Amino acid sequence: MKITDIEGIILRLPVVRAIGDGCQSVLLIRVHTDEGLVGIGEAHTNPLVSKAILDAPLCSVSAEGLRSLLIGEDPRDIGRLWDKMYKHSATYGRRGALMHAMSGVDIALWDLLGKIAGLPIHRLLGGPRRDAVRAYASDLSQPDLGDTIALARRHCEAGFRAMKFGWGGLGQNPRADARAVAAIRAEIGDAMDLMIDIGVPMPLDDALYLGRAFADSGVYFLEEPLSPDDVAGFARLVAQSPTPIATGEKETTQYPYLDLMDRGGLRIIQPDVARVGGISETLRIVHHAEARGARVIPHCWSTDILVAATLHVLAVQRDAPYLEFNATDNPLRTDLLVEPMRVVDGFVRVPDGPGLGITLNDDTIARYRWTG
Ligand SMILES: [Mg+2]
Repeated sequence: MKITDIEGIILRLPVVRAIGDGCQSVLLIRVHTDEGLVGIGEAHTNPLVSKAILDAPLCSVSAEGLRSLLIGEDPRDIGRLWDKMYKHSATYGRRGALMHAMSGVDIALWDLLGKIAGLPIHRLLGGPRRDAVRAYASDLSQPDLGDTIALARRHCEAGFRAMKFGWGGLGQNPRADARAVAAIRAEIGDAMDLMIDIGVPMPLDDALYLGRAFADSGVYFLEEPLSPDDVAGFARLVAQSPTPIATGEKETTQYPYLDLMDRGGLRIIQPDVARVGGISETLRIVHHAEARGARVIPHCWSTDILVAATLHVLAVQRDAPYLEFNATDNPLRTDLLVEPMRVVDGFVRVPDGPGLGITLNDDTIARYRWTG
């Protein structure tokens, strides 16, 4: 079997706003083969940048686009092809956008391998340890606290047993943040897990204040209150905050997670399967975390392609506390599959069809396809 083409398709909402929502404009990747099978993937990134990385022609032996590198290759050789992409993009890649594009291709290759074998990806990864994963509703903090509390109520009614609010107005005023989180906790009761995502860097002293204040509200984790590059700051924060600290959604490849865990002391890391290097690299990160007794709660805020890929990884993790589940009303999340991912009694089932186990909704693709 040979790869005949790699296609990057940009889907974009009619109106894209400057908010903390990375699912307004997405890159769907299709890997085509000479036997008619097609693998599906997604890169969670700026889609036009990643599409250029797919389509770029040969520049030098260490600066080639991914499409020309892989055409003619056997799609079943996932590990070798991962290394080939990494090696032949080394002068412009290794981190960031290149790794985002590679992630989408890697997910599509795993989807293809599963389709060839007639098995779900989790079966190819050693077999599932669970058939469903507990989901937390992941939502944006609203400018008006009353609106955030209304969303919290809605997530309770939808059967979620955990929820996270992030970005929006958080991170501007620590005392206001502490009051807001106490009000949300009062609304949802003690049985619900509550996570808070600051998303933008704040001074270390403010992050420490929140780490202490949020402990009174039983916050499950405080996410990304410092710059991703401030590993020394994380080390001090983790050592002193009674609220657990989580971070890692902006990293790519396994290497920064080693630094976050070993130097930063992080006990919860959040790789994004469609950014870090796909299913292949996420598994390497999971193994590093397992060896250190750290928890992996993947970042997952995009389409159901990413949700499916993340579920296959979570299915095989020894420890899989939560699936992040984008709870906003967004057709690129809710309408991209013929059978969209659903939360039932707080859990999402791991797909069990061949490959990712999903079928794209062609009407949604036609409706939101962006050609510039
Ligand atoms: Mg986040």
